[in-house]
Amino acid sequence: MDKKPRMLTWADFTPDFPVWKLNPRGCVLATKEMAPGVYGLISSIPGVDNAGFVVGDKGVLVIDAHISLPMARQILARVREVTAKPILYLVNSNYHGDHTFGNCAFPAETLVIQQRETASRTPYIAEEIAFLLPAVKGDAAVFAGVTYRPPDIVFDDHLRIDLGGTVVEVHWFGPANTPGDTITSVPAARVAWTGNVTGGSFGLALESDAPTFLGTLTRLIQTIEVGTLIPGHSAPLGPADLWVYMDYFSRLTNDLKRALREGWTLEETLARIPMAEEFRPPPADPRAPFMEGRHRYNVRRSYLSLTGEL
Ligand SMILES: [Zn+2]
Repeated sequence: MDKKPRMLTWADFTPDFPVWKLNPRGCVLATKEMAPGVYGLISSIPGVDNAGFVVGDKGVLVIDAHISLPMARQILARVREVTAKPILYLVNSNYHGDHTFGNCAFPAETLVIQQRETASRTPYIAEEIAFLLPAVKGDAAVFAGVTYRPPDIVFDDHLRIDLGGTVVEVHWFGPANTPGDTITSVPAARVAWTGNVTGGSFGLALESDAPTFLGTLTRLIQTIEVGTLIPGHSAPLGPADLWVYMDYFSRLTNDLKRALREGWTLEETLARIPMAEEFRPPPADPRAPFMEGRHRYNVRRSYLSLTGEL
């Protein structure tokens, strides 16, 4: 039996880090056709998970299973509004329960696909429920009926899936938000589901650090022709948003090198690397305090990672 991997807990966060809002009650997933046979499922509640699906001649591939059984059933219902073809594959974009807890509601014929780092963390349902409880305001009933559904296909770097007339590429470019972040791309449509690698005005290096995140973004851009990106938790993005992400993590990486070279403490580093104005949402934007906390998390996490203190 493999050693249990390190999983994130709320003890990893500082009190200034705003808790996510992932409670799906009242959430409606809107079907948006991005290209023929390529559908985004966009949440009606900002911050609550998106999903999506791709329809080929042979069947359907779904991206992400959502946080609860009712939400997974909503995904299945949205697919059935479009096609009666079998749901052949389900890809999880990362290990967290808001992307994987719905797996157990999918038909037995559906093959669940997870990157190896994701697959090593999904068996720990109880730990993950404890982690997500604050994000659903303690509403434990959200997780009713969730059971572990083991993956059928575990991949390391890349899968090419031919759905019949439509090819889907599933990629791992390295850690960014989580160790196993998975990008699902339909090259012919220039549409990709980027999970929690994207979202907000810049990325969140939840379980990596700034240079690692930058490397993952670089490989993504080297490999995929960036058109429309569907993030895990926000409205679709375009290429310009990704260039902003690159800019943010390039600058943060460079600033952290100076911090290390000059021997700054963590507190000095947090004080001397504020969020640059161009990445700051306007004060009226409801995301403004959220992004401030995210930047401080990125600085802190990256500092501790680069100094070997994690
Ligand atoms: Zn998520």
